[in-house]
Amino acid sequence: MDSPRQQGLRRKLVQQLQRKGIRDQAVLEALQRVPRHLFVEPTFVELAYEDRALPIACDQTISQPYTVAYQTELLQVGPGLKVLEIGTGSGYQCAILCELGAEVYSVELERTLYEQAREKLTQLGYRPFLRWGDGRLGWPTYAPFDRILVTAGTPEIPPALLDQLADGGRLVAPVGKGPNQTMVVITRQGSQLLREEKGLFRFVPLRSPDPRQTE
Ligand code: SAH
Repeated sequence: MDSPRQQGLRRKLVQQLQRKGIRDQAVLEALQRVPRHLFVEPTFVELAYEDRALPIACDQTISQPYTVAYQTELLQVGPGLKVLEIGTGSGYQCAILCELGAEVYSVELERTLYEQAREKLTQLGYRPFLRWGDGRLGWPTYAPFDRILVTAGTPEIPPALLDQLADGGRLVAPVGKGPNQTMVVITRQGSQLLREEKGLFRFVPLRSPDPRQTE
């Protein structure tokens, strides 16, 4: 399932990410441990350890490894922190957060992806809390969260997510109206929200639920 060849390709990818500027050792080690080839479609297995986004079901993508590493580094995840991810997708980013020892909650809009990710993550022994629904509403039952990570591009940060961010917490989201988004980091200090802007990225959009589907 995870051959020495695949482990070797993964090591090369991790070295490449390091050269591109990822410094956090814990993040690099998590990337070394999670078998990304098991989260991509069988057709793309040979490309799993290239630093690129790949198509998954429902016209979505598994993010580029550099983007996953960059967002995770910005999030500053540590053991025991409650992390909410919006956009479970393939489940790969979710596995990385689990490897970092976080208590992970992840919401996905597409039922097929939610089900596939649940099966995959369970098979691999990860135990996140997963939910099928509109992540723009966060997950009020388990709020507040120490960290919130949005993995789809959005013109603005959904207010419910800011409401569910704990005091001292950090939120990372790609924000922008066009095809590109600026990576935004929000830190909550009491009722104050501090905003920092980082590099440009390109994500699939954070969407509204299809009105024909009901939960
Ligand atoms: N983190 C994922 C990347 C997935 S791409 C991974 O590691 O593979 C973004 C995901 O966000 C897609 O799966 C898409 O279906 C989902 N998404 C889009 N709008 C959403 C919404 N409103 N609520 C929850 N998920 C959403």
